Amino acid sequence: MKIRRILAYQVDLPLHEGSYKWSGGKSVDVFDSTVIEVETDNGVVGYGEVCPLGPFYLPAYANGVRAGIAELGPHLLGEDPRELQKMNRRMDAALKGHPYVKSGIDMACWDILGKTTGQPVCVLLGGRYGDDFVLYRAISQESPEAMASKVAGYRAEGYRRFQLKVGGDPAVDIARIKAVADKLQPGDRLIADANTGWLMHDALRVVRAVRDVDVYIEQPCLSYEECLTVRKHTDHPFVLDEVIDSIDVLLRGHADRAMDVVNLKISKLGGLTKTKQARDLCVSLGIAMTLEDSWGGDIVTAAIAHLAHSTPPEFLFTATDFNSYVTVSIGQGAPRRVNGRMAASTGPGLGIVPRMDVLGKPVVDIFASRAP
Ligand code: MG
Repeated sequence: MKIRRILAYQVDLPLHEGSYKWSGGKSVDVFDSTVIEVETDNGVVGYGEVCPLGPFYLPAYANGVRAGIAELGPHLLGEDPRELQKMNRRMDAALKGHPYVKSGIDMACWDILGKTTGQPVCVLLGGRYGDDFVLYRAISQESPEAMASKVAGYRAEGYRRFQLKVGGDPAVDIARIKAVADKLQPGDRLIADANTGWLMHDALRVVRAVRDVDVYIEQPCLSYEECLTVRKHTDHPFVLDEVIDSIDVLLRGHADRAMDVVNLKISKLGGLTKTKQARDLCVSLGIAMTLEDSWGGDIVTAAIAHLAHSTPPEFLFTATDFNSYVTVSIGQGAPRRVNGRMAASTGPGLGIVPRMDVLGKPVVDIFASRAP
């Protein structure tokens, strides 16, 4: 089986709540997502998706996905998409870095492997654990009162894990954490995610002020070293996210006892193949995980579902159902949240049939007119 064509489609994903806001005044109103289609010479087609959280969150931007695929795609024609490790080595040899560019292609290759073998991707990623898995709800950054007022509605949708967007003025953030904590019920979990927004002295003031609150602290500062400094001064459970972009930093974090939980985002690591490697290492090292992506629609959500459903439940801290945040559906068969939980599809591959009327015409089309 050989790759004969790679296409990319651009799709806008507006938000039900109008906008999504996090540290430093950053916000996104409409997500710019790219759907990748990989066609093979025997007619099997796979799909992937990459959606950066705007151009100012990770070193990734939406037009970069498309430009990168136009650059990388011609080097992949003629490759066997089922040979995932070999495919990834080929991608890394042809384009240095840019893991987010490779993520959607890798995802589409897993879809093809699943369709070819008749297996859901979660089975190929290690096996399906239980009936479903746990989700969290991100609470967009607003006033403490506004954020606290969201909790009851999200709980009514079944969510029991709430990730507050903090990383602003420390005094306001302390009020945000306390106001939301007041709304929690037994069994709820609270995560304060600063998204790199605090300097060390700000972070130290916040963690001291909320010492008696049962709250996880996520990625307080920009660098690994700054986060480690904060970590050494708090006994709150500690999550690293933005800095966890490779196996190297996972091993370093483990050696330094720098975190209790990591957030693995599929496109940040470069696709399902590399995220599986990181996920399996975390299981071996005893590190719990949030499994998600930077953002996305139905295809990213399906990929998250297969990854999360194939992770031992005690290691899965939370996952994300991005497709419930956005107003546009790009695929039939996508997993849907039920009572705060979600399940991977049982069909072959990712289990998604893209809505081609929503995707429109391809913006990148790399076609092998000659047989490689
Ligand atoms: Mg985070």
